Amino acid sequence: MKIGKLVHLFIPKIFAYCEKHDSKELNRLMDLDYSKSTFHLSSYPFCSPSPKILKEQSIRYWADEFDVLNKTVRVCSQWTIAHKEYFVQYLLEKGIATQTELQNEFLSSEEYVAKQKQQALRKNSRFKNSAIGNAQNLFIRNILSHLGNENFTKNDWEETKQFFFNSCAYCGSSDSLEIEHAIPINKKNMGEHRLGNLVPSCKSCNKRKASKDFRDFLGENEGRIQKIELYMKSRGYASLETNEQVAELLEMAYREVADVAARYITIINRVLEK
Ligand SMILES: [Zn+2]
Repeated sequence: MKIGKLVHLFIPKIFAYCEKHDSKELNRLMDLDYSKSTFHLSSYPFCSPSPKILKEQSIRYWADEFDVLNKTVRVCSQWTIAHKEYFVQYLLEKGIATQTELQNEFLSSEEYVAKQKQQALRKNSRFKNSAIGNAQNLFIRNILSHLGNENFTKNDWEETKQFFFNSCAYCGSSDSLEIEHAIPINKKNMGEHRLGNLVPSCKSCNKRKASKDFRDFLGENEGRIQKIELYMKSRGYASLETNEQVAELLEMAYREVADVAARYITIINRVLEK
């Protein structure tokens, strides 16, 4: 909360304190020296009797008037962040507010910095988690993409397009065809980057399909699903998706990469902190 807002919020409570517990406190709050030593306000007392405020000084006080102990006063509005901890201290010392009431407002500047740091760390740990996830996914992708270590040549691509009549394997459009993995290359689907799993796709289908399996993407479109399956078979592409052993190994690799990535992120952060 901004200091001005905080002070404003507690004005009624401060004056209630004067009325109930310490009537002399109001006189002190109208004294410049007391305001200086208590709040470190430099040029104006905490409050002044409303009729006595000069017109040219009026701007230094909030407009609202308070009737306290037979006086009508206005409160100084010249608060900056530097006054905050003195003001909070005052509230706590007089028992006008409790720490719980003030929640974060009672924090000293060191505590405030520590809290900010903690929040930043928490934010960073989210980045850390996504960095680990990325490392894991990249690693799995890398393994799957290089199984068999064979090249998908330009000639393979031409033949693949011919098989699909130079049109998108998903919608039949012949607009700007791109190479697409029918079974996506990830830990769940275990597709590979090799002949048989690569089909022509238009830009729009490629984008919409994203990391879906071609069967999920095509849904009811049995004809197109069968055509792709036929193509896979004709190129001897044996899908890994039912191979439990490979699934297990990829799971192991996935977990191992998380440990390695986390370890190095921690080490690098430590180096950067110094
Ligand atoms: Zn398409």
